Amino acid sequence: MIKKGFSTNAIHGLHKNNPCNALNSPIFQTSTFVFNNLQHVEDVMSFKSSDYVYTRGNNPTLREFEEKISILEGGKAAVAFASGMAAISTTLLSLLKPGDTVVMHRTLYGSAYTFAKNILTRYGINVIFTDLTEISNLYKIEESSVKVIYFETPSNPNLDIIDIAKVSEFAKTKEIKVVIDNTFATPYLQNPLKFGADVVVHSATKYICGHGDVVGGVAVSGDESYINELKFGYMCEFGGVMSPFDAWLLLRGLKTLSIRMEKHSENAMKIAEFLDNHKNVEKVYYPGLSSFKNHGIAASQMKLFGGIISFELKKGSTSEFVEKLKLLKLAVSLGDCESLVQVPALMTHRGYERTELENFGFTEKMIRISAGIEDVSDIIEDIENALI
Ligand code: PLP
Repeated sequence: MIKKGFSTNAIHGLHKNNPCNALNSPIFQTSTFVFNNLQHVEDVMSFKSSDYVYTRGNNPTLREFEEKISILEGGKAAVAFASGMAAISTTLLSLLKPGDTVVMHRTLYGSAYTFAKNILTRYGINVIFTDLTEISNLYKIEESSVKVIYFETPSNPNLDIIDIAKVSEFAKTKEIKVVIDNTFATPYLQNPLKFGADVVVHSATKYICGHGDVVGGVAVSGDESYINELKFGYMCEFGGVMSPFDAWLLLRGLKTLSIRMEKHSENAMKIAEFLDNHKNVEKVYYPGLSSFKNHGIAASQMKLFGGIISFELKKGSTSEFVEKLKLLKLAVSLGDCESLVQVPALMTHRGYERTELENFGFTEKMIRISAGIEDVSDIIEDIENALI
């Protein structure tokens, strides 16, 4: 099954026959599982049997989701979490201890940034934020205590592109783990493990779900023993487990991931080109534009450029722009069928200090669009009317 194409794997996974010959797997909506006797207890608890104990540790619906996403990312195993932030925080805490250093790209999803800045540091972990779009900044870091390099590519909200292979090559020489948030690209557009990353995390809330009705997360790795440790030593103990119903909805979402990502990317490219040629637009952030920094790296590590575009207005107010929109909805989150718009400085990235927002270019003039899969002519017409 693993050698099949992406869409076939996204639909069938490792699927076995279902009870009652049902086409779709049932939702195992149960908190606990029944043992036959104490020998069965012993076999399961000592991992001699892969039967189940309790849904916080494992559940057949979660296992099916984990197996499928792991195949799609080119990994060996995965752990599902209650949210993307549960996946990120648990993964980082599993790899770091007091005295260690984590190097992070300076622009990240707001809560990932505040988690590192406010929480990791409270536990004695040193955090270095740097601009990883320039690989030379990584080579300049002298701390010997670096244990993890963490980034998103493309990054939220300014779509920074980071060279996964170069970072991973450097990290391998120093036994540093590379953890990449692949939420914007999804496994359809980019497989960081194939470029040498150690762990991939996702907010499954976004494209993996695709319909805006789940909050979930997942971590995938090529190292099965690390995933076992992450699951039973950390996820299980912190308790941020995904619900079986959410895993079932995500299995449904995965079936259409490839066609949705094709359409999101096609629409986003057209929107980016439209914005790039508009007189009221100061700057467009989209890795598919040949003028965008590291476009060549994006083209070499991504299949297409994804569905997120950010841009800055030349004149007029951001609030007037968002209020004029009719089709695009003002909301955080992304990756849904509906086109969404938001202002990172006021919404998802509020946790950044004002000075940092300015240094990183997230002014209140920056607007992020999550291109939906509606007819692109309707999306562009809505944006055009709001830009006037
Ligand atoms: N990573 C990225 C890139 C995100 O955009 C988000 C949320 O917007 C997250 C992680 C956090 O995911 P969740 O909201 O599922 O916890």
